[in-house]
Amino acid sequence: MPTPSGQQVRPTTAPGLDCDTIIIGAGISGLYQLYRLREMGQSVRVFEAGTGVGGTWYWNRYPGCRFDSESYSYGYSFSQELLDEWDWTEHFAAQPETERYLNHVADKFDLRRDIRFRSRVKAATWDEERQTWEIGLEDGARYRSRYLVTAVGPLSAPTLPRITGVDDFRGEAYHTGLWPKHPVSFEGKRVAVIGTGATGVQAITEIAKTAGHLTVFQRRPNWCTPLHNRPITRAEMAEIRKGYPAIFERCRETAACFLHNTEPRGTFEVSAEERQAFWEMLYSSPGFAIWLGNFRDVLVDREANALFSAFVADKIRQRVKDSRVAELLIPKDHGFGTRRVPQESGYYEVYNQPNVELVSILDAPIERITPTGLRTTEREFVFDIIVYATGFDAITGSLDRIDIRGAGGQRLKERWKGGLETFVGVMVDGFPNLFMIMGPHTALGNIPRSIEYNVEWIRDLLAYLERHGRRVADARRNAVEEWTAFVKRKGAGLLANEVDSWMTGVNQNVEGKNVRIVARYSGTAPEYREWCNRVAAGGYRELQLA
Ligand SMILES: Cc1cc2nc3c(=O)[nH]c(=O)nc-3n(C[C@H](O)[C@H](O)[C@H](O)COP(=O)(O)OP(=O)(O)OC[C@H]3O[C@@H](n4cnc5c(N)ncnc54)[C@H](O)[C@@H]3O)c2cc1C
Repeated sequence: MPTPSGQQVRPTTAPGLDCDTIIIGAGISGLYQLYRLREMGQSVRVFEAGTGVGGTWYWNRYPGCRFDSESYSYGYSFSQELLDEWDWTEHFAAQPETERYLNHVADKFDLRRDIRFRSRVKAATWDEERQTWEIGLEDGARYRSRYLVTAVGPLSAPTLPRITGVDDFRGEAYHTGLWPKHPVSFEGKRVAVIGTGATGVQAITEIAKTAGHLTVFQRRPNWCTPLHNRPITRAEMAEIRKGYPAIFERCRETAACFLHNTEPRGTFEVSAEERQAFWEMLYSSPGFAIWLGNFRDVLVDREANALFSAFVADKIRQRVKDSRVAELLIPKDHGFGTRRVPQESGYYEVYNQPNVELVSILDAPIERITPTGLRTTEREFVFDIIVYATGFDAITGSLDRIDIRGAGGQRLKERWKGGLETFVGVMVDGFPNLFMIMGPHTALGNIPRSIEYNVEWIRDLLAYLERHGRRVADARRNAVEEWTAFVKRKGAGLLANEVDSWMTGVNQNVEGKNVRIVARYSGTAPEYREWCNRVAAGGYRELQLA
């Protein structure tokens, strides 16, 4: 049977196995891993909880959902044909376009035939005797494979707020990450949005356009900056297409795989006028330039950070007419860029509309959701629709929701109770033949660039095992300790590590996630790849192969 690349598939599945590799999840990671493993002749099965491909871009259908990454820096880079035939219509594409793109990828490479939809994996157990993984689905079905790849996503386990009465509400209620496929009309309705993170900011801006009355419940404001999205003309797309090699080269070189990179100058190395002009330029630049292309010390030096935060605070004051509301929207408990920066398209102006009200629940928390709305410690509200923009149990949430048991029956979730430990974010000692894409402590940033790297690294490792007649790979304990120590060293000195956020593993809506940890790798992506390349070039000495 020919593969997309024209190679012949050799069926390799051993007796007693359903396939060589099981992949959990059919988002950007799962689709690409399927493509690469099938190409090397493996038999693969993908199990996906949703009814379609796309992961993030399948589930997050909420109004306003769109990229923070430049569209053309986000798409897959591996297929010239795909790059040649796909036209992006906006610099920062909205969810429907990205979902269409990923469906196009699945069709083009005939990926669907190996994907089972509506299939949530509940458990995965390492069988030491047979040296295989057995996975169990929610519907009771069981499958065996030699290798298991989790492609379950870093932001894919939605969380509701821990407020009593969530099930009592008799109106319509939606979580942004579980948005229905049918259209939701806000026309003339009384709407509540709970949450003002990156998702809330996008959703609020859209919902405010048609809602009869919108009440926004804010626990803590974030530093939001303008996205400056615009359409891509045909001529521009032709230029982008010609520039793809340079775009991907740039993404390979920058710290976070974005087109933007840190400004080498320090905040206080330039005159006050130069600094102001630079910051004005950043404020009118598209995307994350303002976060990732700022002076090199803004995210590590308290004084530099405070000065830039004051600059953004002034912008908020200029844009929001009611000074009381403006002050509520200015973060006081963290500096700019120390939490995920939401990108907005007219967010602050929403609060100048007569149909929008901002309620701070910091001082007057929500007591409960009621059948007709909700009650804070100060007021009773009545709503037709409640939108929970309360985000995700990030990074480990989707892994935690699967009962993953490695050698000796140890649970992955338990293993991480004392702190996250991995080998290059992909493996954990004691969990042989388990490979995580976008697992904790891997490089994130402009994520598909890191996904492509991780997928190919896993593919190369499996090819190495096959060439050397090995069937099992487990990370050595000292390799895990070394990588974990490196991740911790890389996080030292970052102001972001002094703030509660999903990046420091804190989520008040998730039990047990109330202590700050080093939840993510904060070194650069090139450093990450250098480390992983060294491991591969050295014959995987950091792994125990059998
Ligand atoms: C609203 C939003 C906007 C974002 N914008 C950007 C951006 O602009 N740039 C950027 O780089 N990143 C962005 N991200 C991050 C985004 O998650 C990644 O870019 C990327 O989509 C991750 O792909 P993935 O395949 O690893 O995971 P996902 O896309 O999350 O896919 C994981 C899949 O696994 C499935 N799954 C999980 N658990 C199970 C299970 N137990 N059984 C079966 N199936 C399971 C899920 O249903 C899902 O389909 C955004 C995230 C969100 C939520």
